Amino acid sequence: MKTIGIIGGMSFESTLEYYKIINEEVSKRLGGLHSAKMLIESYDFCEIETYQSKEDWKTLSKILVNSAKRLENAGVDYIAIATNTMHLVADDVENNINVPLIHIAEAAANAIKAENIDTVALFGTIYTMTKPFYKDKFKNEFNINVIVPNIEEQKTINEIIYNELCRGIIKESSRERLYEITRHCVSKGAKAVVLGCTELPNIIKQTDIDGIKIINTTRAHCMEIVKRIL
Ligand code: GLU
Repeated sequence: MKTIGIIGGMSFESTLEYYKIINEEVSKRLGGLHSAKMLIESYDFCEIETYQSKEDWKTLSKILVNSAKRLENAGVDYIAIATNTMHLVADDVENNINVPLIHIAEAAANAIKAENIDTVALFGTIYTMTKPFYKDKFKNEFNINVIVPNIEEQKTINEIIYNELCRGIIKESSRERLYEITRHCVSKGAKAVVLGCTELPNIIKQTDIDGIKIINTTRAHCMEIVKRIL
């Protein structure tokens, strides 16, 4: 088995899910006492969020590149960034290391393609929903059309992520609001909703919304990681 290096803690609520899903899947596939070989470098998310809110992507890029280099020097075979948003600096990370980066948007796009879906709604932080790094990858490399919620809905989703989900808070009222936004996006033509934030699967489950396909990027990313390390 190869070793995965995870850049995590953004937030720790979702890094916990990575640890659990990857290990459970390796155990399921290999049986016995097997579990995943993994190194995790975990950040204080408060520091990361402070740079995000200042849109200081240069500093964030340096931070993540340094992490990736440390993991590479420690001997990992692959690197994964356990957040959609911070893939904003994924190209910098990829260009500064010699081991492959397992990209979350590529794992998500492959999961969408496997369902034969061509138009999706993208939920995530304000950065993921509004900046081109994620949407353009879907469109240009996978021919997947992306619908984003309207500005007011984007603000709501962003607040739920930073004020609740990244702090481990799950509110029924927020779940209902996310369903409403989901239904609105479906009425605009979305065939599936991409949970493009690694904490969103903590509040929205596939079984919750009848007939509307949910693409869980945390799970898709973890499955790709398992496939590669095995
Ligand atoms: N984990 C989230 C994501 O997947 C949001 C936290 C962050 O800004 O990194 O985008």
